Amino acid sequence: MCGIVGYIGAREASDILVTGLKRLEYRGYDSAGIAVLNGSVKVRKKEGKVSELETVLNGQPVDGSVGMGHTRWATHGVPNDVNAHPHTADNGRFAIIHNGIIENYAVLKKQLAEKGYTFTSDTDTEVLAHFIDDVQKEANLSFAEAVRQALTQVDGAYGLVAVSQDEPDMLVVARNGSPLLLGIGEGEHFIGSDASPFIEYTRNVVYLNDGEMAVVRRNSYEVFKIDGAPVAKEVHALEWDLEEIEKGGYEHFMLKEIMEQPEVLENAMRGRVRLDDNQIRLGGLADVMPQLVNAERIIICACGTSWHAALVGEYLIEKHTRIPVEVEYASEFRYRDPILKDGDVVLVISQSGETADTLAAVRQAQQAGILTLGVVNTVGSTIARETDAGVYLHAGPEIGVASTKAFTAQVVVLTMIALAIGKERGTIDEGTLHTFLQGLTAIPDQIRSVLAQSEQIKELSHDYKTADNFLYLGRGCNFPVALEGALKLKEISYIHAEGYPAAEMKHGPIALIDRFMPVVVIAMKDAIYDKVVSGIEEVAAREGAVIAITEEGNDELDDLCKVVLHVPRSLECLEPLLTVIPLQLLSYYVAVLRDCNVDQPRNLAKSVTVE
Ligand code: GLU
Repeated sequence: MCGIVGYIGAREASDILVTGLKRLEYRGYDSAGIAVLNGSVKVRKKEGKVSELETVLNGQPVDGSVGMGHTRWATHGVPNDVNAHPHTADNGRFAIIHNGIIENYAVLKKQLAEKGYTFTSDTDTEVLAHFIDDVQKEANLSFAEAVRQALTQVDGAYGLVAVSQDEPDMLVVARNGSPLLLGIGEGEHFIGSDASPFIEYTRNVVYLNDGEMAVVRRNSYEVFKIDGAPVAKEVHALEWDLEEIEKGGYEHFMLKEIMEQPEVLENAMRGRVRLDDNQIRLGGLADVMPQLVNAERIIICACGTSWHAALVGEYLIEKHTRIPVEVEYASEFRYRDPILKDGDVVLVISQSGETADTLAAVRQAQQAGILTLGVVNTVGSTIARETDAGVYLHAGPEIGVASTKAFTAQVVVLTMIALAIGKERGTIDEGTLHTFLQGLTAIPDQIRSVLAQSEQIKELSHDYKTADNFLYLGRGCNFPVALEGALKLKEISYIHAEGYPAAEMKHGPIALIDRFMPVVVIAMKDAIYDKVVSGIEEVAAREGAVIAITEEGNDELDDLCKVVLHVPRSLECLEPLLTVIPLQLLSYYVAVLRDCNVDQPRNLAKSVTVE
């Protein structure tokens, strides 16, 4: 996830690029950079927000009316000036900006190094730049043709813009898996990850599809497939305003983030879940795998939503590796003098990678000489840097304070970790591994089918907007989902909600149940389904209003429950990826009806860097 902007016309490019980058900053803010053509390719780039780049540009302005800009959300290489885009090749003859991940960058980098190429950054993007240079020189190609031919040999996702001093009157653009559109003006053209960089200049846009490229000039543009076949494109007129565009047309970032979960999980699994050779590839764990295989205990420390993901991780890791797992609140772990011994591994989970309590848990474990792993979204964050090894979520920036996409990405990453260790330890057989890889691969489309029920959930949220209390019940790996559903509702709608393991209800919370108490029950048809149904009976007998989440095709709960929502069937322990979605949507719509500030709920902060 990153922001891309491009311009070719008669105006001063750098102004348009910088303004555009500011609007795209919600897509990433690790660094920002621009390249402008003026005889040669002039690059200015800087770690940090676009304002830092502006300071650089104030000191060293660049003139020219062709250029491109990038705001980075790092996937390969920490956020710093060198890893910032644009990346150049052939002594600055051309430059590219890139959104996405080049999966086969390591193989390409090795080949290029053997030919004498050297690399200044740690990014996959720089590898692609040199690869384009190599392809161009090998066959003496035009610039656009070199980009095209290089891309036919690249695996992965990209939104790409390239400029060359040899052919200064054009921008070369390509898309595969990352959004890009052209803004069509008179005597000028724009490029953007969304339309926000150019909405005041034109509302006419051409959407590029995956596998398409364009050569964009001042007065013309040509779109073709990466295989070279020309494509006729339709021009669409935009009706959205600027704010709507930044939120992808959604009213809130939270809803956008809920809705983008299928793509987020595809990104989290990209290049890692390998059905063809029945493998999980987690490069970040390769060096420590021998220690993980021999671990005697894994302690997972986290806070908030990440702690709920940790509880799902406990089920997954114990199931697939048979290594005992303990889950701790990071804030408690750090102060209770935990017993740590050889063979222990401390795994921490944090969306921001800056959570103060979680970082303290890392440091405490390291002082005791314990191997630490991080499951983090933000590349180069403190936890990512200080842990010994880890796996990034690749979920893109999460702006809504109530975490949604980071939770599902965390569960996917923990599943991959469990399967990878299990395979190495021999505690999961090839057939079961294959079944789980298939199960994971199916999840994004299954989430799409749950998201398709959002209108129905919006409708039913009207019945709950005045509730004072909510109870959420689940068992097994859906117990953490009950906790997460309750937390989401509390955070953004300020309705008191509690999550419980379903069987615990009779030990206390049942006293609260009356006809005013909505009770959300996750009742998937697993080994303990019948017990969960008994719990539903007990609630119904006390006139509690049950909202059941069950699997498609199960109509047994229809008479017993006020509302029954269905999610597709999945494998046990992958179910939370599906059952949590209706709960996210329910809390979102209830909060909107209560007029709450969904993206910035009162008293909360996105990254809790204080104790
Ligand atoms: N993989 C590239 C990098 O880490 C691009 C990341 C992005 O989409 O911002 O620099």
